[in-house]
Amino acid sequence: MKIAIVGTGYVGLVSGACFAENGSEVFCVDIDKQKIENLQKGIIPIFEPGLEEMVQRNQKAGRLFFTTDLRPIIDDIEAVFCAVGTPSDEDGSADLKYVLEVARTIGQNMNKYILFVTKSTVPVGTSKLVHKTIQEELDKRGLSIEFDLASNPEFLKEGAAIKDFMSPDRVVVGVESERAKNLMSILYRPFLLNNFRVIFMDVASAEMTKYAANAMLATRISFMNDIANLCELVGADINMIRNGIGTDTRIGNKFLYPGLGYGGSCFPKDVKALIKTAHDKGYQMQILEAVENVNDNQKMVLYHKLVRYFGHIALNEKARSASLCEIPDMEIYVAGEAAIKGKTIAIWGLSFKPETNDMRKAASVVVIEKLLEAGCHVRVYDPVAMDEAKLLLNDSVEYCKDIHSAALGADALMLLTEWKEFRLPDWAVIKKLMNIPVIFDGRNIYNRQELNDAGFDYHCIGKA
Ligand code: NAD
Repeated sequence: MKIAIVGTGYVGLVSGACFAENGSEVFCVDIDKQKIENLQKGIIPIFEPGLEEMVQRNQKAGRLFFTTDLRPIIDDIEAVFCAVGTPSDEDGSADLKYVLEVARTIGQNMNKYILFVTKSTVPVGTSKLVHKTIQEELDKRGLSIEFDLASNPEFLKEGAAIKDFMSPDRVVVGVESERAKNLMSILYRPFLLNNFRVIFMDVASAEMTKYAANAMLATRISFMNDIANLCELVGADINMIRNGIGTDTRIGNKFLYPGLGYGGSCFPKDVKALIKTAHDKGYQMQILEAVENVNDNQKMVLYHKLVRYFGHIALNEKARSASLCEIPDMEIYVAGEAAIKGKTIAIWGLSFKPETNDMRKAASVVVIEKLLEAGCHVRVYDPVAMDEAKLLLNDSVEYCKDIHSAALGADALMLLTEWKEFRLPDWAVIKKLMNIPVIFDGRNIYNRQELNDAGFDYHCIGKA
């Protein structure tokens, strides 16, 4: 089958490569000329394991093409997938201008039946707007041409996108006609030959399913972070709690990791958009509002720990002494904020999660901005996100070539993204490089005893 995918970002490029891998002829379209020129040469704009090889293989095989112009191919394709961005508008709602632009181009240029598939995450009701937009353009041309709409939200995870797309848990498809249902079945059959798990439903429910899934996952993250913060106050260990509840089959063990909150291009904007959709309908999503609040606060948790640590030292107390509980927290905090001024802080990990160079809504940006505001000098290292980070942080921080150069002369080290290469550093070497041996582990990947034995003070999330 011949298809076009408009928007060649994470979702569009991965979808395009995977559809081509399974035999479809795919035209990936984007308005970003530089991106398309690079892709035509086999240069991939994002870091995603396995993607580069797959793109190059399918280009060579003559099944995957890149172009900036959708118009000349519209009459050659049976379906067009819309995978453009749907960023947050100022009021939190999803901005649909890119989606509707694609719909307009289709309406202005189609001369035969086409299936318009929305893959972007869009609020319930968007398909009606897309229908209206295409129809208006056809009316202007005085044409009556049949077309269908489908909603096919994407559930891939950055960092595991190829695996998720090639062997999905399920594919959700909202359709309004048998013709659309048949086309979508044919397209997805190769992915699910052994166990066909395409869940067909109406379009509004498909659009809503995507938001409900992301909202549920964001809720689990904020819930665990809330419990983790309480664990610290009551002397419990969140890692134990996670094991204890994750083994309950009703709960399951996924998305129970405490940390610095969720980030990335999806959860923050999708939670916001769902709250806004409800608000527009006169309903308040109270749980999701709390999920957002907890998440915003969580990004600052490690910074607060750092301030308190140096506050304790400034007040001439031992940082791990229990008697410190008697000093009012405010006094420690004020002393800490003064004490961290001029300190050098090493940061390991910048991307919003491992296996991606995506920096959108990454906790690292919030933490680093706060450190800079407090007068710290910041040395950063990430295995793949350095170029993306430079676009956001410019020359406000020092970019280092590896974990060792980042740790050089540091008064504290913060682990913000749990890349595999950070898991087993040689602590004896790190200790020699650092000025003050203290680790703030924002992802709970280290063992306190091992670090204490190596001469470090260690602070993590959800364990006092
Ligand atoms: P992205 O920002 O990486 O890519 C979007 C691309 O669309 C950009 O390259 C942009 O240049 C292009 N574009 C914009 N307008 C265009 C137009 N009129 N014609 C052609 N190209 C155009 O976005 P993304 O992360 O791939 O997300 C796309 C959609 O998929 C969003 O709605 C997002 O919420 C959803 N989604 C993303 C993920 C993810 O992990 N990134 C997962 C599931 C769903």
